[in-house]
Amino acid sequence: MAEEKKIIRKKIEATDRMNKLMADYFYGLNEAATTGKQKVAWCTSVGPAELLRAMGFAVHFPENHAAMLGATRMSTDLIPEANAIGYSPDICSYLTADIGAYLKGVTPLAKAYAGIESVPKPDVLVYNTNQCRDVQDWFSWYSKELGVPAIGITSPKNVTEVTDAHIDDVTRQIEALVPTLEEISGTRLDMGRLRETVALSRECTELWKQVLETATASPAPLTFFDGTIHMGPAVVLRGTREAVDYYQLLLAELTKRIADGVGAVEDEGFRIYWEGMPVWGRLRQHSELFASLRSAVLASTYCSSWIFPAFDPQDPVRSMAKAYLELFIVRSDEYKEKYLLQMLKKFKVDGIIYHDAKTCPYNSNSRYGMPQRLEAQTGIPSLVISGDLNDLRCVSDEQTKTNVEAFIEQLEEGK
Ligand code: SF4
Repeated sequence: MAEEKKIIRKKIEATDRMNKLMADYFYGLNEAATTGKQKVAWCTSVGPAELLRAMGFAVHFPENHAAMLGATRMSTDLIPEANAIGYSPDICSYLTADIGAYLKGVTPLAKAYAGIESVPKPDVLVYNTNQCRDVQDWFSWYSKELGVPAIGITSPKNVTEVTDAHIDDVTRQIEALVPTLEEISGTRLDMGRLRETVALSRECTELWKQVLETATASPAPLTFFDGTIHMGPAVVLRGTREAVDYYQLLLAELTKRIADGVGAVEDEGFRIYWEGMPVWGRLRQHSELFASLRSAVLASTYCSSWIFPAFDPQDPVRSMAKAYLELFIVRSDEYKEKYLLQMLKKFKVDGIIYHDAKTCPYNSNSRYGMPQRLEAQTGIPSLVISGDLNDLRCVSDEQTKTNVEAFIEQLEEGK
């Protein structure tokens, strides 16, 4: 039987700085929306945020808000509100939780930040379907409800090689957003400012990559569960100096941990890869469960999804098109397998957890034989856990615990 250990959670010192940064971001958004000093754009998490930021918009990310609904465990009670107006319990539980929160007039922002009463009202909604169709449906609903335009990019999907034809297509689509955004913002797109924003996003992305890659060290100085929290600035503040400064600070702390031989998990015995989304309402429980089994969940596709190596300030629009096309979620299983093979090797992984999230098929890669194919190629065992990102009715804590314990025991026997 895999031995359970007393859990010591090591605090990342930079967390206080990140919390301040996120608070400033949310207060800034609130001020923009309540005073009208700055136009507000809502953007999908891997949408063209650089363009919006360069055009002077304050940018809100509904997926970030939906993840907060999940992490605060508000989502499960809110999802039925969206189900009642016709959005199935089987579709994206970010969408249903976020629309449910709107319908009920609640937000975790109000609890976390005194003086904020609601999410910032948008002037425009901008999506990219590179991740899924649900974001388009989600933004279209708000467009009708709030009477603001929803514009976006319809991306190719299941791409093996990203070709010039794909990039040309998305480049044209990004360019086509500009006239509407200019009209709403009342300013012309300044290419110099866009270059600067893309340069900052590039810097942010490189630092975020280095942060995640500190986990190649043994013991790993951070876990996937830390990553899901510390990726906040890479998601909502990419394209800003503040995000770059933050990741410099975090990287320095993690580098010091490596030099001091400090691991995120005491006495790291097993190195685990997480494929799929986190269960937001169970981050702490999952972190403690794995740590108690001397298992460091230290790398993931999910946190790595905010690494965009293609950003190039010399060619900002086209490089944005390329960056947002090269994402894992856009790609075919053939590409995804190659990517995962590299990750398993790079992070010296002993086992893989696939999270089959009931309401997000796009981030659930265990449904078409991938675990079996990768295990046949690498001999690395895997476990599929059923759950969901935000709908805790789809999560069985007992079953997850039993299955994870049995899996770690299997790894122990194989060592
Ligand atoms: S990728 Fe999944 S979780 Fe994200 S918006 Fe789409 S369906 Fe929802």
